[in-house]
Amino acid sequence: MLNDKNIETVKQQLIAAPCKIVITTHHKPDGDALGSSLGLYHYLIQLGHQVQVISPTDYPDFIAWLPANDTVIEFEKTESKSKQLIAEADLIFCLDFNHLSRINEMGDLVRHAKGMKVMIDHHLNAEGFEDAAFADIRAIATAELVYKFIVWMGDAEKINLDCATCLYVGILTDSASFRFNSTTPAVHTIAADLIARGVKPYDIYEQIYDTNKLNRLQFLGYCLANKLKVVPEFNTAYMAISREDLKQFNINTGDTEGLVNYPLSIKGIKLACLIVDRTERIKLSLRSKGDVAVNEICAKYFDGGGHKNASGGFSFKTLDETVQVFLNALPEIKAVLQ
Ligand code: 5GP
Ligand code: MN
Repeated sequence: MLNDKNIETVKQQLIAAPCKIVITTHHKPDGDALGSSLGLYHYLIQLGHQVQVISPTDYPDFIAWLPANDTVIEFEKTESKSKQLIAEADLIFCLDFNHLSRINEMGDLVRHAKGMKVMIDHHLNAEGFEDAAFADIRAIATAELVYKFIVWMGDAEKINLDCATCLYVGILTDSASFRFNSTTPAVHTIAADLIARGVKPYDIYEQIYDTNKLNRLQFLGYCLANKLKVVPEFNTAYMAISREDLKQFNINTGDTEGLVNYPLSIKGIKLACLIVDRTERIKLSLRSKGDVAVNEICAKYFDGGGHKNASGGFSFKTLDETVQVFLNALPEIKAVLQ
């Protein structure tokens, strides 16, 4: 199931001569998006290439410490420089996404750029914008694929501590700490190899997960007490968070990360949804268990997608209307929710 379209050409180009390379990842990068991007960065600079990671937007503090984080530029803050880098790049690595809409305004720039677009990704239903790919929907994280890509290049010895740290963060966060289904023996073998290269799991875990601020914990308590709704007949639970709620607790990018897992942790719940009014749009995060394919709900109703059990999307309706769209979709999938 590995889609390795034209990847041999990429290898030859990487070996042949120093190139100008842009690495980009999806809007509001998470641990895997940034970890895989910077992991690839630490590898490619060792081959002598000129490499720039461009994030479409900002990202949360709990990942803004990865080695070489200070070299990352945000498109929104460096538009003209980013445009030039994209236009001049020989290779554009697109990590952890498979639709150009996931990188906002950068999407059109990448689409029309002269450089070869190389997609490394593990999501379903690719758009097909790429010229080359190293993609596998069975992978637990894009970081797993970057690891395999480096090994496939014959360069395992170039996975230094900085590279290994970034890849470990990607695998740790996308697997929910080695919990999800696709945590195969191979994933643990890769993690073991990264630890053998010097990664300290305890330190990484602490930097990622033990960084709560008081307001965030209080916000969590408030949401659990006031916002959590259960729809017993559909084994579904959800939370709808308004702008005022976010403002009251001074909630920023990334502070709602993981919140959707609380409704899913209720015994018997098969579908969980977090709906957040982010002012410019309503953002939805869906999680499920078993056969409930949330990527299909996200694609049908919320212009989104993702994985079968973890997907996202958005809406330009009001918060209440969006909740209604979600609730109205439930009867359609009643059979799998039982
Ligand atoms: P999250 O709920 O954490 O934002 O995202 C969960 C999963 O759904 C991630 O794998 C992410 O890539 C995907 N996802 C989130 N939002 C969107 C979206 O707007 N469009 C698509 N296609 N996928 C999304
Ligand atoms: Mn990922």
